Amino acid sequence: MRALVLSDIHANLDALDAVLSAAPPHDTVWNLGDSVGYGAQPNEVIERVRGLGKVFVRGNHDRACCGLTSLESFNAIAARAAEWTRRQLTREHTRWLRVLPQGPVIATDGVACMHGSAADEDEYLLSIRDAIEDVAIAPLHASQTRLNFFGHTHVQGGFAANDEEWFRLTPAFGKFPVGDSHSYEEYELQLRSGARYLLNPGSVGQPRDQDWRAACALYDGGSSTVTFLRVPYDVRAAQARILAAGLPDRLATRLRTGR
Ligand code: ZN
Repeated sequence: MRALVLSDIHANLDALDAVLSAAPPHDTVWNLGDSVGYGAQPNEVIERVRGLGKVFVRGNHDRACCGLTSLESFNAIAARAAEWTRRQLTREHTRWLRVLPQGPVIATDGVACMHGSAADEDEYLLSIRDAIEDVAIAPLHASQTRLNFFGHTHVQGGFAANDEEWFRLTPAFGKFPVGDSHSYEEYELQLRSGARYLLNPGSVGQPRDQDWRAACALYDGGSSTVTFLRVPYDVRAAQARILAAGLPDRLATRLRTGR
């Protein structure tokens, strides 16, 4: 079984479509949340992702953009984008967002999907310390899964543990100028039996790991591998849509630098 793992698409249809057409063959799609917020095409992105796969968890922007939570915890730019998104979303898409499940969700035997962490859907797993604490306090069913996919930080990679020893995993990728259409790259991680993993496919629509290319991952249960992908897309088109929509400039400029 091969699953394409997507997270933090953030209403960036240009990035999503590039990922879908570049991705190796897969049987299903697992979506780790934040399909909307920040970007200019929330309805188009929901339309696209609804038809892909069956595993979804909700993200903090999904909740805010459908009115499930207030915008209090958002910074000014994120709040403006969420307010704009609320006005744009069709009723049907708002309803779809409102019933997205809270993670962790078991995607297949031994594999869980979540937005933030297993213990807290809004937590940022940025350091090894965060990862250790999450495994220590996570709900039992989630902490027993050997492979945990999370999003929320927009940083591709994650953490692995052999017994009590933890490692940070960062895919080794090159640096490419924005717009380089030949910059597709893959990095394969062989999962070891006995080890446990917290892995982030990265953000499709707003990477924050200093790489402008759309990020995602492919899980292959047969070969026990996770392949991290970086996919070039038309950043200028996504930026132009953000500016034309009247969304904050910063949401367009940050796509160039991936931060
Ligand atoms: Zn996000």
